[in-house]
Parts: sequence; structure tokens; C-alpha cells
Amino acid sequence: MSEILVLVEHADGEVKKVTLELLTLARTLGSPSAVWAGPGITAEAKARLAEYGADKIYVAGSEEITGYVVAPKAELLAQLVAEKQPAAVLVASTAEGKEVAGRLAVKTDSGVITDAVGLGEGFVADQSIFGGGVNVRSRVRTGTPIVAMRPNSTAPEPSAGAGAEEEVAVTLSDAAKAARIVERVKQEKGARPELTEAAIVVSGGRGVGSAESFSVIEALADALGAAVGASRAATDAGWYPHQFQVGQTGKTVSPQLYIAAGISGAIQHRAGMQTAKTIIAINTAEDAPIFELADFGVVGDLHQVVPQLTEEVNKR
Ligand code: FAD
Repeated sequence: MSEILVLVEHADGEVKKVTLELLTLARTLGSPSAVWAGPGITAEAKARLAEYGADKIYVAGSEEITGYVVAPKAELLAQLVAEKQPAAVLVASTAEGKEVAGRLAVKTDSGVITDAVGLGEGFVADQSIFGGGVNVRSRVRTGTPIVAMRPNSTAPEPSAGAGAEEEVAVTLSDAAKAARIVERVKQEKGARPELTEAAIVVSGGRGVGSAESFSVIEALADALGAAVGASRAATDAGWYPHQFQVGQTGKTVSPQLYIAAGISGAIQHRAGMQTAKTIIAINTAEDAPIFELADFGVVGDLHQVVPQLTEEVNKR
């Protein structure tokens, strides 16, 4: 079976959910090999990668790999592409993943597809482009297909792989060492899931009306175990922090369920959420554009609808 490299996303020694999704997807197309960049791989992390189908685990454990910004990961993958001749390389379509993918494509003279939401036989990808305005099917025609998959595009399912470990030594070029990381500041990890990884996102817009009223959105999110998002109108007004903005100039999310409350559905907001599997809109204006996109809609005041929804969810 043809080998497919999967770049592992990890934090504090833990494998992120998106990697389990990529391994699950890679299993349908070939034999997945996980690529762990940086020090700190644990026995638990290796077991998790194998549990989700990694037949091989390449470990490049040098401090240097994560001591510099992004470029070393592209060099590591380029080296593995040259040595192992994989059928494809999968990365997460996150800000870092897309940058790694682009750099790797240049180094290996290959085509790259980003923002993919599906990948099938022959590495034909379903891709969301032009700020989410158009969906296309694309296929890489040159070199090794490099595909950046959006988080939540595949449901992760365990199915054991061999998990054979192989150490990889990488000699970084001077260019890869151009930007060194001088300090890492750990962000407070809240109880809610990370926005781009969450299976459910509850977002509020201008219709929420104030910073205080975002507690209504948060209460529903907590009842559902969801992440909280916001439109740019809400973040620009200072009602919610910018890091939670969803859209063209914010985060891109592809959850199983996206609840948009008091959001009109501007094209720039859609760009960040329209690949969600199911969309529910709550809006007072029945002609709000978000209803064109929504699978389910409630015409009503979010200050009445959302608390009732929260109460119902909490009862179950
Ligand atoms: P509005 O468009 O004002 O809509 C508010 C909605 O709330 C209305 O539909 C109204 O009917 C409804 N409403 C009011 N009161 C209630 C209530 N009590 N209950 C229920 N519904 C109610 N926007 C983003 O979101 N993300 C981006 O990343 C982004 N990037 C941009 C980049 C550029 C270059 C530009 C030009 C714009 C960008 N925007 C972005 C802004 C975007 O164009 C819209 O202005 C923004 O999305 C509007 O936010 P909103 O839907 O919350 O507000």
C-alpha cells in the first residue's frame, strides 16, 4: 500500500484531534505514516497515533525543529518526501499547516491544495476557495500531492496501525534558521474546546448587543460542550476578543454544528464557517442572508430563543 505522510499537530505532548482525523482519512487512501516534529513525544502519543492507524511513526526529535518558525517542518517533510517517495502528504489546514504546505510544495516542486474539506481516490480534493465563495474539485498534477485538510472534515475513528517508530535526523539549512522563536507565552486554556477544532461552535454577532450579553452565547456553548465564536461586528465593538472572530480575517471553522445568533451572514463571515456540516441561524430578520445558508432557522430574538435552547439542552 502506498505510504501517506501525515504531519502531526501536537501541544504539550498531546496529539491534536485534527491529526486523528488526518490518519483516519489517510487510511482510506493508503498506509499512513505519522511525522512527529520536535522533542517530547510520549509513549501515550505514540500509542494514540498507532491506535488511529499510523503504520509508521517518524520522529524528528531535535530541539532545532521547533526552535525556529515553521520552515524546519517543511525541510523535515521535504527530506522524507525525497527518501520515502510517499504517495501524498497531508497536513492540517491551519495557519501553520498551510504555511508548511506552501513551503513544502516549493521545495519538492509539487502542487498543493489548501482548505480541502474532502479527499477521495486519486487524491481528488473537495476544496473551498475564494474566501469560501466557491467549492471546487481539484487534483495535484505535479510532484507529490500536498493536501491541507480543514479540521473537522473527517470523523476520527480508531483502527490500529503497526506504529513502527523510526528516528529521523534532519540537517537544517541556514534559511530554515532565519527566524528563531525567542519566547513562548502560554495562553490560558479555558474549559471550552479550541475554536478551530471544536465539533460545535456557537457564535454571536451584532444582534447580541453588548459584551455582557455574550454570557447568553457562552451559556449555550457550555451546555453543548461547544466553542464560542463571534462575528467581526462583535469583535470590533469590543464585545468579544478578536481571537474568537470567525471569517475571512478571523478563524476558519468546519464544525459538525454551527449556531449563528444575531449574525446577518455577510460573505466575509461565511468564508469562515460555510463548510460546517449543519448550520442553525437565529435572527430577528426573516430576510437575513444567513438563512440562505442555514439548514435550520429560527426567526426570533436571540435573547429569548437562546436561553430557552440552553434550558432545554441542560434538561437532557
Ligand atoms: P450585522 O451585519 O449588523 O448583522 C446583525 C444581525 O443581527 C442582523 O441580521 C439582525 O437582523 C440580527 N439581529 C439584531 N438583533 C437581533 C436579536 N435580538 N436577535 C437575533 N438577531 C438579531 N466579518 C466577520 O464576521 N468575519 C470576518 O472575518 C470579516 N472579515 C472582513 C474582512 C473585510 C475585508 C471586510 C470588508 C469585512 C469583513 N467582515 C468580517 C465584516 C462583514 O462584512 C460584516 O460587516 C460582519 O460580518 C457583520 O457582522 P454581524 O453579522 O454580526 O452584524
